Amino acid sequence: MRTKNSISIKSDDELKILREGGIILSSIIKELKGSLTPNITTHEVDQIAENLISNRNVKPAFKGYRGFPGCVCASVNEEVVHGIPSGRMLLEGDILSIDIGIIHKEFYMDSAITVGIGKIKPEFERLLAITQESLYKGIDQACVNNQVSDISHAIQTLVEAHEYSIVRDFVGHGIGRNLHEDPEIPNFGPPHTGPVLKEGMVLAIEPMVNLGTWKTKILKDGWTVATEDGKFSAHFEHTIAITKNGPEILTKQ
Ligand code: MG
Ligand code: MG
Repeated sequence: MRTKNSISIKSDDELKILREGGIILSSIIKELKGSLTPNITTHEVDQIAENLISNRNVKPAFKGYRGFPGCVCASVNEEVVHGIPSGRMLLEGDILSIDIGIIHKEFYMDSAITVGIGKIKPEFERLLAITQESLYKGIDQACVNNQVSDISHAIQTLVEAHEYSIVRDFVGHGIGRNLHEDPEIPNFGPPHTGPVLKEGMVLAIEPMVNLGTWKTKILKDGWTVATEDGKFSAHFEHTIAITKNGPEILTKQ
């Protein structure tokens, strides 16, 4: 069912499927995270993800999406999002953002984490912790009768309080039978604007946080987004449902 502003409202039966999908995707991410070590390539990470996905009888959501070649987006260090899995070797001290989506019984799920490879510098540990915290601050606002930009504003406020910057060129989104549905969910902006949140909406909230400037550029491969100044960036994402009891994180690990 679609509301006036074309944001789909999921039925109880659909939410049941989305909950199942969330549990499956979380278990894939947990296992994938456990397999990360220095000296493997992002292509190898993608292959591990592909096996984990096929073992659970779900489909990869990103492979083939607008021609994207991987099951995961693997973005290293100064790369923000949409990194193409490649022969790039992960080294001790790197940070890797893994963004992964699946299709379970015709419904999409989308989640991302950023992890340190081996031991990383305290300044990068802090970037990861604050980015994750900003995601949870945004999720806290995903309540019936709040507005979309209440999520955006909470994320930006937390990030900027720690003197990081929030990426503006890419946004979160509604999700369901399509990977990207209405509404768009920016990670910045004033509160109390945009569509009103209703029970049954399902959203992918995904702050991207930079150590330096918020500005980004797209690399020559046409996909990979990197920070303009080459400083590191982190990304966390959950798919959540809005319920009468508050936000429910479907992809919780
Ligand atoms: Mg994602
Ligand atoms: Mg997403």
